[in-house]
Amino acid sequence: MRKTVIIGAGLTGLSCGYKLKNKIDYVLIEKEKKAGGLCSSVFKNGFVFDYSGHLLHLRWEETKNFVLGLLKDNRVKIKRNAQIYLKGYYVDYPFQINLYNLPPEIKSKCVSDFLKANLYPKKDTRNFKQWAIRTFGKSICEYFMFPYNEKLFSYPLEKLTTLWLGNFVPRPDIKTVLEGAYIGKVKNLGYNYEFYYPKRGGINYITQKLANKIKEKIMTDLEVKSVSFKNKEIVLKNGEKIKYSKLINTTPLKDFILISDAPQKVKEAAKKLKHNTVYILNVGIKKTNFKQHWVYFPQKTFPFYRLGFYTNFSRYLAPENSDSLYAEVSVYENEFIDIEKTQELIINQIKKLKIIKDYADIKTLLWTKAECGYVIYDFEREKALKIIFDYLKRVGVISIGRYGGWKYSFMEENIKEGFEAAKEIMGGSYGV
Ligand SMILES: Cc1cc2nc3c(=O)[nH]c(=O)nc-3n(C[C@H](O)[C@H](O)[C@H](O)COP(=O)(O)OP(=O)(O)OC[C@H]3O[C@@H](n4cnc5c(N)ncnc54)[C@H](O)[C@@H]3O)c2cc1C
Repeated sequence: MRKTVIIGAGLTGLSCGYKLKNKIDYVLIEKEKKAGGLCSSVFKNGFVFDYSGHLLHLRWEETKNFVLGLLKDNRVKIKRNAQIYLKGYYVDYPFQINLYNLPPEIKSKCVSDFLKANLYPKKDTRNFKQWAIRTFGKSICEYFMFPYNEKLFSYPLEKLTTLWLGNFVPRPDIKTVLEGAYIGKVKNLGYNYEFYYPKRGGINYITQKLANKIKEKIMTDLEVKSVSFKNKEIVLKNGEKIKYSKLINTTPLKDFILISDAPQKVKEAAKKLKHNTVYILNVGIKKTNFKQHWVYFPQKTFPFYRLGFYTNFSRYLAPENSDSLYAEVSVYENEFIDIEKTQELIINQIKKLKIIKDYADIKTLLWTKAECGYVIYDFEREKALKIIFDYLKRVGVISIGRYGGWKYSFMEENIKEGFEAAKEIMGGSYGV
């Protein structure tokens, strides 16, 4: 008998399944031994590590109530304490509105270039690089925007569009920049100014709570190896075939299309989709005095683009007298990374930053990986996605989530998409 199949039990698939429960017959198929996807935690030697900081930015009523309802009183509400480390100075985030702490010569270059860019704006803003110069001026770009984003995306910035920006990069007016530079007024701009986080159990707490509500529907340790849209059938790694009536995909869109019987033109489009991979070194250490939630590192001398401190989200993420942090390193697609060498470089830098005194302060180390961390918004993405989604619509398949939708999205958005997909299926607008 055919039923609705959801592929992938990350936050998107789980949210969709939650809304479908008791409404229609469905099954959720997950390749790992446990549900959660990237919104999971790893437990080692008393430490709880996420796949780097996973903070809950809640802005929409339905999803906010839903997440807070899952957390109940196992939650903390946090005001961001984030900085940029540049040439020995810690500058509050967002950089562009907190220039106060910079040495005078860097500050005045940043301010005068910002004024020039805004008083005499350049017209061409097609790619991210041009847009950033037009918005922030040359110096803010050269000190922070360019080197940081190059490290994050591992991709040339002149080949990026501006479609990923959304709320992720705050765009201040002239008054705000001047106040931030000369009066040192504290600025609370940005989508992540305030956030929630589970008090205990890491971000895993959310997905496991959710998974428990639909546990009879989740089949783990089953990888989808191929998909036939013609036969409305998926084939699992163990050879088992499952016929579907409706299909929702939340796994990376590129792979999903490439393992399917989609026409060549659609597969060619999928091959154009690009992403980076984020490697995360999680470190359990002796207690430190660092109070920040995370710090950005634009300079090339640091192998990581960001360091974050789990125990500043919740002290319950590490044993007594310990702290924990993560260092995020990005490579383009599946580029080689020398893990041993990178680990040594990271540890040397956290020593230089005086986060630890020496190797003896390290209690545990664990590498994790976000395979498809950030999708790349290059100039081929839009056209490729149109071909793919037009085709998926024709064959009546929904593909959602950060990777199923191939976009720069966040947890709350994924929950929302999961809910909406469920509504679409139940409302009958699906596949027409
Ligand atoms: C470094 C980093 C930091 C982030 N920080 C934040 C943050 O602070 N706040 C925030 O809101 N968001 C953050 N995010 C985004 C967040 O992780 C995602 O938006 C969310 O976890 C995506 O959920 P998903 O279900 O769409 O995808 P996934 O979690 O990737 O779920 C997809 C599931 O499909 C499974 N799967 C894949 N292939 C197959 C197959 N062939 N067969 C069966 N199953 C398969 C996978 O195992 C996985 O469980 C961050 C992301 C990264 C990379």
